[in-house]
Amino acid sequence: ENLANRIAAGEVVERPAAVVKELVENSIDAGATDILVEIENGGKRLIRVVDNGSGMSREDALLSLERHATSKLTSDADLAAIATLGFRGEALPSIASVSRMVLASRESSSLEGAEIYSEGGRIVTVKAHGMAVGTSIEVRGLFFNTPARLKFMRSSVTESGHVGELLVRLALSRPDIRFSYICDAKTQFIALPGDLQSRIATFINKDALTDLWPVEYAETGISITGLVGGPSLTRSNSSGLYTYINGRFIRDKVVQHAVIQAYRGVIDKGRFPVLVVFIEIPFSDVDINVHPTKHEVRFREQGKVHDYIFAAIGGVLSRSPW
Ligand code: ADP
Ligand code: MG
Repeated sequence: ENLANRIAAGEVVERPAAVVKELVENSIDAGATDILVEIENGGKRLIRVVDNGSGMSREDALLSLERHATSKLTSDADLAAIATLGFRGEALPSIASVSRMVLASRESSSLEGAEIYSEGGRIVTVKAHGMAVGTSIEVRGLFFNTPARLKFMRSSVTESGHVGELLVRLALSRPDIRFSYICDAKTQFIALPGDLQSRIATFINKDALTDLWPVEYAETGISITGLVGGPSLTRSNSSGLYTYINGRFIRDKVVQHAVIQAYRGVIDKGRFPVLVVFIEIPFSDVDINVHPTKHEVRFREQGKVHDYIFAAIGGVLSRSPW
């Protein structure tokens, strides 16, 4: 059982940023409006995620550390209509199996929370814990019991860079949530709740706002919304392409190709635009779970998706002043 968790851990949590992703997605799924992420040593020494979401009862908190104990899947049919970010029930037990974890949680109907301490996936102590409603998860010594994985981690600077970029992707997708990020006791950012424009100003460029154009496109079976940048915002690589499918950040060849085609003649060859675009399509038309840690997707009709994105962005660009 514990071995299965450690094998799954190799799949799901390859590095600190992947741990942060799973924990923050759980916080989002729990309805949190305020999420704090703190790391030390690139997440190798400490990862802490604190949220004000629904929290868990003591029983549910204990259950959450068991494999496939997801609260988000109630039938096979749900697999086809995954509305939440997580659904596999593998993340917490996997992360716990390769770290020393303190999970504290309190639901609103309870006067106090419960704190569970586990080592390498074995629960060591469970006790009452005074806290606000929500959940706090502390992951220390990631991969302390899997030396091969431990060796695989890069420098603290590299790992914290990955965590920061991951948080930007998540924060851009949910401007309504307050996100704070602390790295080695220094506050990296506090993103106050607001709209997408203010999020972009926080993370991409304060001056971006004068050269951002709204996309609002709907066809049967697809909707495309967001903000696309004009010629003043180009980059030499694709790092400014923030594209999401059904709320998840993706990096996909079909999508990128359509975007870049739409910019032909608007920005110089070899330059890349900056944009934040949300594509919503029926879950039956896309497979986002090709791999839990990759950002690839598989479309049922990729040609159509390509054409819609091209039309949506191309339409905006053709109406803009340049
Ligand atoms: P999944 O997200 O796929 O369901 P996880 O292993 O990530 O699986 O989490 C297991 C379960 O623990 C979740 O289904 C949820 O019920 C609970 N849980 C995890 N994190 C939180 C959180 N921050 N707030 C409330 N519940 C949580
Ligand atoms: Mg999850």
